[in-house]
Amino acid sequence: MKSRRDFIKTAALGTVAAGILPKFSMAGNIPGGMSSKPLVISTWDHGLVANAEAWKVLSNGGRALDAVENGVMIVESDPSQTSVGRGGLPDRDGRVTLDACIMNEFGDCGSVACLEHIVNPISVARRVMEKTPHVMLVGDGALEFAIAQGFKKEKLLTENSEKAWREWLKESQYKPIINIENHDTIGMLAIDVNGNLSGSCTTSGLAFKMHGRVGDSPIIGAGLYVDNEIGAACATGLGETVIRQCGSFLVVELMRQGRTPEEACKEAVERIVKHEKDVKDLQVGFLAINKQGEYGSYAIHPGFNFALHNKEGNSLISSDHWQK
Ligand code: ASP
Repeated sequence: MKSRRDFIKTAALGTVAAGILPKFSMAGNIPGGMSSKPLVISTWDHGLVANAEAWKVLSNGGRALDAVENGVMIVESDPSQTSVGRGGLPDRDGRVTLDACIMNEFGDCGSVACLEHIVNPISVARRVMEKTPHVMLVGDGALEFAIAQGFKKEKLLTENSEKAWREWLKESQYKPIINIENHDTIGMLAIDVNGNLSGSCTTSGLAFKMHGRVGDSPIIGAGLYVDNEIGAACATGLGETVIRQCGSFLVVELMRQGRTPEEACKEAVERIVKHEKDVKDLQVGFLAINKQGEYGSYAIHPGFNFALHNKEGNSLISSDHWQK
């Protein structure tokens, strides 16, 4: 399987490096661009397949919420993706524990954390939002709820992920350092033909993390935030740093104050850099869209990319970054 780095080098022809084109272009496919509705964006190169699925909903006039659920499910179900859903790398005890959240245009949200044995945690998160008076269910409680809702209990540890874990066990070095090859949450934001926004975020989190560790991805306001009047944002990278700054909420609030999506993402990244001080081994990327259909991203280090699908097609875009 190609690593993401290889993929970035050879990926979609639509990819345009930051700064080559003017900042705003109706052509759309640049960081910090503007696009017509509907529109879907999602993190990393697996965003391409996820966007293609989401686009089926959006292009038929469907709701952004359905698009962001269906889109990320494709990645959750793919056993070759080692950072999301089935095939996700386990914690240090060999258990695959998943985190996910979803938020709709009414500001309703649902979330699951440390959920085992369920291939599509994003759909369980949606059920939490729609079928319970709660926002978040975790661990065994989330699993019991999922089973009661008809989800199938399955083994998520694949042969390959078990092999990787056994290899890691040889040294068992507990270094929860961001490694952009094993940190690939999918966060997805969409705006539908009616101009309504929704978002989703799903991950297996840090590879070989402590059992019970939960990152930013299922935390509303950290890994994802949607305000249908303003915009939506999601995050990927070392979750602890994103939680400390309420990252996605911060990006949306900065857009409320007038920043473009890219400016808001940049300012949120700068907040993290300022707080963490040493960011040499630490990657974080934010993605955002606003109510007008403008989009943008920003990361600490080079290497973060996202996929954009609009009427002109589906393409991979390299994000601008703090570390020059
Ligand atoms: N944000 C995720 C976490 O900390 C990891 C990632 O984006 O890959 O769990």
